[in-house]
Amino acid sequence: MTTIQWFPGHMTRARRQIQEKLKLIDIAIELLDARVPLSSRNPMIDDIMMNKPRLVLLNKADLADPGITRDWIAYFGKLGIEALPIDAVTGEGVRSIPEKAKHALRDKIEAQLRKGMNPRAVRALIVGIPNVGKSTLINRLAGKHIAATGDKPGVTKGQQWIKAGGDLELLDTPGILWPKFEDEVVGYRLAAIGSISDQILHVEDVAFHALRFISEAYPANLKERYELTDVPGAGAEADEIVGVMEAIGRKRGCLQSGGSVNLEKASMVVLRDLRGGKLGRISLERPDGRSKEEALTDG
Ligand code: GDP
Repeated sequence: MTTIQWFPGHMTRARRQIQEKLKLIDIAIELLDARVPLSSRNPMIDDIMMNKPRLVLLNKADLADPGITRDWIAYFGKLGIEALPIDAVTGEGVRSIPEKAKHALRDKIEAQLRKGMNPRAVRALIVGIPNVGKSTLINRLAGKHIAATGDKPGVTKGQQWIKAGGDLELLDTPGILWPKFEDEVVGYRLAAIGSISDQILHVEDVAFHALRFISEAYPANLKERYELTDVPGAGAEADEIVGVMEAIGRKRGCLQSGGSVNLEKASMVVLRDLRGGKLGRISLERPDGRSKEEALTDG
């Protein structure tokens, strides 16, 4: 897991590196996490992209709630951005990327054809925050293992184009963006999916926020996984959520001397299960989810 300290100087450099690459490409492929499309989105993305055509990929869709993913596709559609759910590990959805990229560029391609020009391969850059799956996707599209995984400060090397099939070419190094960590809720969500290191936020806090959301939005999943008979729903008090955590800890044998539940261990169990998809397909953010948003914001 990469933990990058995003000091202002790093952000400025990352932005400059991406903007240099934008000059070389026709379309930016923005990789988001399907479980948290807003929290995994760079806060300055519109500004950084300088009106470059864009395609959004909702990666790790295998772990996200399919109905909510559909809502997100519609949400981006309303913003005029084409979005596609994919699983970069198995390759599900990946084959549609060249077609979607060409569709996003159809006006430009049609104009070239009208002028009698033969359109060359569409050139693309993959951008996204750390751990969203950029290298996995590049390797998947390239059909082989590409060693380079992003920009290392001080290392200058020529850009390589990778043939990604269907007249699509990719730059071999992705553009690395920073997340919105000034927002605490975003931090908890990114930590819940394992996108930022467990050393940064306390696991008990991260698991508490996640459990509060899941017990409201996906109570049946919790009941089934941990054989619980009762899970508090919307508007649960903090001690009710801690009660659920304790019940999970007891089921999983996370006890400390004296017989009480070791909440840190129970928290790790919940987070491991959530990240590994053992709680089912869960989306932590939804476009229309006011009450769900509040479930995370109020504490
Ligand atoms: P990068 O930092 O953006 O280049 O992210 P990586 O490509 O290194 O991926 C981070 C982690 O996410 C790795 O453990 C990948 O195996 C995993 N991953 C990437 N894409 C997917 C996906 O679509 N589904 C699942 N379940 N895991 C994925």
